[in-house]
Amino acid sequence: MEQAFSSVIALIFLSRVQVIQVFSHRMYMEAIETLAIQRDLPSAIRNQQIKPVFQPIVSCITGEIVGFEALARWQHAELGAISPARFIPMAEESNLIVELGEQVLTQSCQFIQRFNEIRAEQQQPQLSVHVNFSAHHFSSSTLLENLRTTLQESMLAPQHLVIEITESMLIERPNESVKRMEQIKQLGVGLALDDFGTGYSALNTLCQYPLDIVKLDRSFVLRLMDGQQGEVLVRAIVNMARDLKLAMVAEGVETHEQMLKIKALGVEEIQGFYYYRPMLAADIFALTEAKLSVEVCS
Ligand code: C2E
Ligand code: MG
Ligand code: MG
Repeated sequence: MEQAFSSVIALIFLSRVQVIQVFSHRMYMEAIETLAIQRDLPSAIRNQQIKPVFQPIVSCITGEIVGFEALARWQHAELGAISPARFIPMAEESNLIVELGEQVLTQSCQFIQRFNEIRAEQQQPQLSVHVNFSAHHFSSSTLLENLRTTLQESMLAPQHLVIEITESMLIERPNESVKRMEQIKQLGVGLALDDFGTGYSALNTLCQYPLDIVKLDRSFVLRLMDGQQGEVLVRAIVNMARDLKLAMVAEGVETHEQMLKIKALGVEEIQGFYYYRPMLAADIFALTEAKLSVEVCS
C-alpha cells in the first residue's frame, strides 16, 4: 500500500515536471521566434518580401465577386508563413508600418487596375480593392500626397479604392480622425469601418463619421448562430447601417448556414472562407481567364 502510494506521488511529480518542461520549451520557442521576427522584419519590409494576397468579397444574392480585401503575407525563410496578427503590431511599434502600408497600397492599386482592365474588355462592372490602414499610416503627414501619387501612377480611379480603418483609431483621436476622413473622401476614395462591434464603440459611432461601408466583425457572425440574442443585435446593426445608407460586409462567414442567416438579415456582401480564402493575385488572374475562356467556348 505504502509502495503504491509513493508510486502515485512519483507519477504526479513526474507529469508536473513534464508539463513544466513542455510549457517552458514552448514559451522558449515562442520567444526565439518573436526575436527572429523582430530582427528580420525591417529587412523584409525594405526588400518588399511582404506582399498582399486578395480575398474576394462576394454578393450572396448573385454569387459574383464584388470586390477584394488586400491582406499582407510574409513567408519567412526559416519560420514559414507568419500571420499579420503577429507582424503588423510589431511594425506598428515603429514607423515601419507606414512603409509597409505604402507598399501594400501600391501593389493593391496596381492589382485592381489590371483586374479592372480585363473586366472592361468583357464589359463587366469595375470593382474596388479594400486596403487596411494602421493608425500611424492613417494620420501620417504624407498620406494624402502619397495617395494622390499612387492613384495617378497606377491610373486607378479613386472610387475603386477603399481604405479600412478600425474603431479604436477613431475613438483615440475623434476630431483628427473625422478631419482626415473628410480629406480622404475629398479625393474620391471610399472608407470602411473594419471589425465593427469588437468592443470599442456603441452603435451611434456609425453616424458620427463619414463612412461608406461597415464591416461586421466575425464574432457577430458566430453570435448569430448562438440564438435569439445575437440575431436581435445583428438585426439592429443592419437596420441602423441601412438607415444611414451604409453598405455592409459580413466578415468571416464560413458555412452555408451562416451565409443563409446573414442573407436573411439583408446583408448582401460577404467575405469569408465559405466563398473564397485570400488568394495570390496570379491565381485570381488565372481564375478570371479560365472563367472567360469557358464563357467564350460555351
Ligand atoms: P481584417 O482586416 O479584419 O481581415 C480579415 C481577416 O479575417 C483576415 O485575416 C482573413 O484572412 C480572415 N478571414 C477571412 N475570412 C475568414 C473566415 O471565413 N474565417 C476566419 N476564421 N477568418 C477569415 P489575416 O489575413 O490573418 O489578417 C488579420 C488582420 O491583420 C486583419 O484583419 C488586419 O487587421 C491585419 N492586416 C492584414 N493585412 C494588413 C495590412 O496590409 N495592413 C494593416 N495595417 N493591417 C493588416
Ligand atoms: Mg480589414
Ligand atoms: Mg475585419
